Amino acid sequence: MPRENNFSKEHVSFAKKIIEEINSGLIKDSRTLDDRSFFWSKFFKLKEMPSHPFIYSFASVSEKKQKKFISLLSIKPTRSLSGVQVVAVMLPPFPCPGNCVYCPSQFEGKIAPKSYTGFEPSTLRAQRLGYDSYKIVSNRIKQLDITGHRAEKIELIFQGSTFTCLDKKNQESIVKKSLQAVIEKKTTSFKKIKFLAEKSKRRVVGITFETRPDYCGKEDIKQMLYLGGTRVELGVQHADDEIYKIIKRGHTVDDVISATSKLKDSSFKVLYHLMLGLPGSSPKKDLKNFKKMFKDPNFKPDMVKFYPCLVIKNSQLFKDWKNGLFDPISERDAVFVLSEIQKEIPPWVRVMRINRDIPGNIISAGIKTTNLRQVVDEFMKKKGIVSMDIRSREAGLMSREKEVDYSKAKLKTIFYNASEGEEAFISMESKDALFGFVRLRNPANPFIKSIKSNTALIRELHVYGKALSLGEKDDESTQHRGFGKELMDEAEKIAKEKFGSKKIAVISGLGVRDYYRKQFNYKTEEPFVSKVLK
Ligand code: SF4
Repeated sequence: MPRENNFSKEHVSFAKKIIEEINSGLIKDSRTLDDRSFFWSKFFKLKEMPSHPFIYSFASVSEKKQKKFISLLSIKPTRSLSGVQVVAVMLPPFPCPGNCVYCPSQFEGKIAPKSYTGFEPSTLRAQRLGYDSYKIVSNRIKQLDITGHRAEKIELIFQGSTFTCLDKKNQESIVKKSLQAVIEKKTTSFKKIKFLAEKSKRRVVGITFETRPDYCGKEDIKQMLYLGGTRVELGVQHADDEIYKIIKRGHTVDDVISATSKLKDSSFKVLYHLMLGLPGSSPKKDLKNFKKMFKDPNFKPDMVKFYPCLVIKNSQLFKDWKNGLFDPISERDAVFVLSEIQKEIPPWVRVMRINRDIPGNIISAGIKTTNLRQVVDEFMKKKGIVSMDIRSREAGLMSREKEVDYSKAKLKTIFYNASEGEEAFISMESKDALFGFVRLRNPANPFIKSIKSNTALIRELHVYGKALSLGEKDDESTQHRGFGKELMDEAEKIAKEKFGSKKIAVISGLGVRDYYRKQFNYKTEEPFVSKVLK
């Protein structure tokens, strides 16, 4: 980082370019700030990335007072709370069996996988790199490194269209190349690559696939496990057969129920994509249906992403909107639905995202606000609505705003029924903060060879750290390890005593398997690590 009186004219030009782009609106959040910083650092051939305060020091007096400059530049970049960096791998364009009326397919000739327009930062990057997953991942890692984010623990997310519609050979090739980029080895055997990924310098801590409920049968699930998958994002949108017909979704509510239970019985974490304001729906119907997702044991996802339905060119919905047959949901109604639903979200669910990454200038009609989540949060604050969702209580996020007392953490377990099985959400928490949790399941109808009906499943173990500035040391790390052990001990106890399980299996990112083997004496039993309960 250039020090005072020790910077070149290129550093100054770099700072001025960034300031210019914040003013023009091209840089609007930390993600675009990283992207553009990476671009200009290459352009000016800088060996080190100038710090945010350095750039900020070149802003004019009036710019320095603007909220966007303060929030983007006046603070040091914060390492992601868990130290995990998400690397999105955009899939190449290929057909999807769906015909959803809102799906943009290809927007104005831009080559993008279905469901993306080609203008999102992630698709633009993928296009530039010829949809080569090796290049996408290694480029992103370089970018994270140069911006000081230390990509040591990586979560890979395969996005776009429907992953399981790709033929198996292509699925394996895309995942293989991504793993090669992480482990920085060109070994060709997939088995060997997975083995090397268990001990590589950078570790893959999770792999997520996006798919449709009707393309998530037993064989698809076995394949996703073989590829190292740990989480599946299901396009559920609005689980109602009438609405599915109207939007030409091409699957039924029964498909959602079936995929959800098969995934959970195979230890996967399940994330639902839910869409507001679809044709045939209304704010009242949205709210009723979303409530059902959290109450009805047939659904009960572990995580959710909410998106408002948007009108994009090249979709059937665009024509309907032009012909006066469709009106998108207003921001006011969306904020109302999203804040009301927060009252119903159980403590074991994490709201991962509100809003989608579609640039405002290509939305023909619908909500263009880029910070919908923030608008919802502010509305909730005003109305005194408190959410119990995981994200609102994470100790790490909370520590950005106030002091969190780790010594107040206590074990707590909530039992609930879901997809015919029993779930235990075991947490370490205090009155207002969540320090970590385990999702434990007693499966209902397992079909994976290494899971019997008396095998308990750990679908997730998560321990939260403090928000750290770069270079700051994590004083709580020993305590975190202690939380992990307490949670695992409790999970094994419940599995044995309450579920009557003889074995416990963990779905683990390839790079985390060693942790379970070394810390808790688990053994590899593909595609899991497991332990006999005595
Ligand atoms: S399933 Fe997804 S990708 Fe396929 S048509 Fe529907 S929205 Fe588009």
